[in-house]
Amino acid sequence: MLRVGLTGGIGAGKSTVSRLLVQLGAVLVDADVVAREVVAPGTQGLAAVVAEFGSGVLALDGSLDRPALGRIVFGDADRREALNAIVHPLVAVRRAELAAAAPEDAVVVEDVPLLVETGAAPTYPLVVVVDADAAERERRLVADRGMDREDARARIAAQADDEERRAAADVLLPNPRRADGAPDPLPALVERLWSERLVPFEEGLRAGRAGPVPSGTPTEADRRRVLDRLHPVGGRAALVGGDRWPLQAIVSADAGLADRGYVPAGQWRWDSADPGCAVRALVAPGVLEGLDVGGPT
Ligand code: ADP
Repeated sequence: MLRVGLTGGIGAGKSTVSRLLVQLGAVLVDADVVAREVVAPGTQGLAAVVAEFGSGVLALDGSLDRPALGRIVFGDADRREALNAIVHPLVAVRRAELAAAAPEDAVVVEDVPLLVETGAAPTYPLVVVVDADAAERERRLVADRGMDREDARARIAAQADDEERRAAADVLLPNPRRADGAPDPLPALVERLWSERLVPFEEGLRAGRAGPVPSGTPTEADRRRVLDRLHPVGGRAALVGGDRWPLQAIVSADAGLADRGYVPAGQWRWDSADPGCAVRALVAPGVLEGLDVGGPT
């Protein structure tokens, strides 16, 4: 099984890309579905939200009045923080449950709108970002979803900016405005992502096989993402050696690497199974002690 984190700003085209991936065979963990489930009537989540925000966020039938809650939180960072503190942990647990229930050979695509904002990107073996600039996203929210312009702006401003999101992307899927009647390049891009990256990555993980060494040279952003992902909880990591694929790394502990796209290759070595990002990591407890190699970003 491979877990893929799919993200992008509101209106970027996550739902569009999710649909295409499902057509190709992915199992989708849909953010909207999960977000609704954890605050459905009768849940601990809804009780906690009402305790925090008052019964004014309930509709007449006892369900959560999302627009009412949205009006409270989207313009106010503190209130948003309070809501996130309740909902995010519940969402993470539910997401993991749904992913765990997928078949052993599944490519599980998790649509996670706030993947970058919550710092969860390195916990996924692969992060795919759907990219459309903020002005175009605003246009779509107003034109296609009938959102009020101020509301659209507030929602966009409440999320990570485009640069932060791009920096977290292992794969960037550009989805700019398409002229009326122009062919849509997205299905072909998604098909390539599926057949050249996701399927071989999943097969590699299941078979315990390292990915092939890609051509080209890793960028600074590649190195940063590799390091962030190699920092397991409480561990340290450093890149050593040259600046070509495969990147060589030393890690002080290997807890969690199996969940981040790595396969064991002998007692002290883990290799990335990602066909787009070759990494060989040596586990050497103690070697990094006393060295200033920094922590996770
Ligand atoms: P998200 O799930 O990221 O919020 P959606 O997939 O729902 O975004 O897309 C937002 C809106 O933009 C939808 O109405 C969709 O039809 C439209 N859309 C998606 N891609 C494009 C594109 N390339 N050009 C114009 N409109 C698009």
